[in-house]
Amino acid sequence: MAAPQVLVAGAGVVGLSTAYYLSGRGFGVQILDPGPFPSATTCASLGVLTHFNGGDDPFSQLYRQGHALHAELAARLREQTGMDVGWRPLGGLDLACTEVERAELRQLLAFNRERNCPAEWVEGEALRQLEPCLSAQVLAGLYFPTDQRVDPEALCRALLQAARQQGVRLSLGESIEEFAQEGAEVRVRTRSAEHRADFLVLATGAWTGDLAQRHGLSLPVRPVRGQHCRFTGGQLRHVLRHQGAHLVPAGEQIIVGATVEETGFDTQTTPQAAEHFTRLCQQVLAQTVQLLAQRAGLRPKPKGGRPHLGSLRDQPRVLVAAGHYKNGILLGPLSGQLLADWIEKGHAPGDLQRFAPER
Ligand SMILES: Cc1cc2nc3c(=O)[nH]c(=O)nc-3n(C[C@H](O)[C@H](O)[C@H](O)COP(=O)(O)OP(=O)(O)OC[C@H]3O[C@@H](n4cnc5c(N)ncnc54)[C@H](O)[C@@H]3O)c2cc1C
Repeated sequence: MAAPQVLVAGAGVVGLSTAYYLSGRGFGVQILDPGPFPSATTCASLGVLTHFNGGDDPFSQLYRQGHALHAELAARLREQTGMDVGWRPLGGLDLACTEVERAELRQLLAFNRERNCPAEWVEGEALRQLEPCLSAQVLAGLYFPTDQRVDPEALCRALLQAARQQGVRLSLGESIEEFAQEGAEVRVRTRSAEHRADFLVLATGAWTGDLAQRHGLSLPVRPVRGQHCRFTGGQLRHVLRHQGAHLVPAGEQIIVGATVEETGFDTQTTPQAAEHFTRLCQQVLAQTVQLLAQRAGLRPKPKGGRPHLGSLRDQPRVLVAAGHYKNGILLGPLSGQLLADWIEKGHAPGDLQRFAPER
């Protein structure tokens, strides 16, 4: 019998992960995306895999599993492709530069201790030894040993390479305009072609809400722009956090982000963001940095804060994996694995009710 065929709309981290896990189980997969590859969102992402906060609700469980999957996936992709996805268990430091911030960090420590999350107070000489790059303005830090980072672009390239080795085809320049389940198959129309398959997965990120609306479906996911800046001039050891921003080590460079902006589908970068992140570096770091590059991408923001995962109510062969907002790199691989399980088994792998796509 021929292998079941799956069309995946979207070659971001979520679509690529879905294609990777499906093809690993013998499904025939074609990915359709208007391009470019890798997506602007992937290229803008910081790739921080932040520690989980100890909650036990369905979203916290998903977060914890997503966090845990990365080390194993990085090792598997290296074995399959020889590529390094840049997964590093760096640890993270939340920083305080004023007495008010120091008091807030103390509260954060208490919150994490209550939930049995590993966190450690550091200041003075111990703080400088842990992270020698810090400026004299930094008074104290809260160390989170389970923070990790992966290079989002390297992850996407390795997922694609491994998926291709497993038979996946990527068709760039193809944007899905129309889809419908007809009996036991799904028909998909792009501007240049018509496709038929056994299943369709919508992994269309920030564009999911618009695409759904054109089909009379309610999948409320909208774009929220995020920008980052890349600087030369420092060698960080950890992921640093200050005033809601991250400073992330990337080899000899530092990536600083991210803004949160309601600007629709606009992916322009702005001088204000560059100035803001430059000032942040001057405050937190001992050495002078120089702006190298700036990027913007569109986070897919869901209504209700939870990603949309699973099949459509009236079209069970159309599945959705979208709305991962600020955690798509962290949750993308797990989402892909869950959807591959769902399609293989013919039903939800566990209780994913809270993530039902239609809201
Ligand atoms: C500045 C910034 C920093 C971030 N930092 C982090 C971080 O530290 N950690 C973390 O976990 N996450 C982070 N994120 C979030 C993360 O990057 C996203 O959640 C994730 O990349 C979303 O992946 P996706 O595959 O859903 O979407 P995308 O990567 O946007 O992919 C969607 C794809 O769908 C395609 N598409 C659109 N319409 C159609 C159509 N009609 N037919 C076919 N294809 C279509 C698009 O071309 C695109 O390639 C950050 C995001 C930004 C912007």
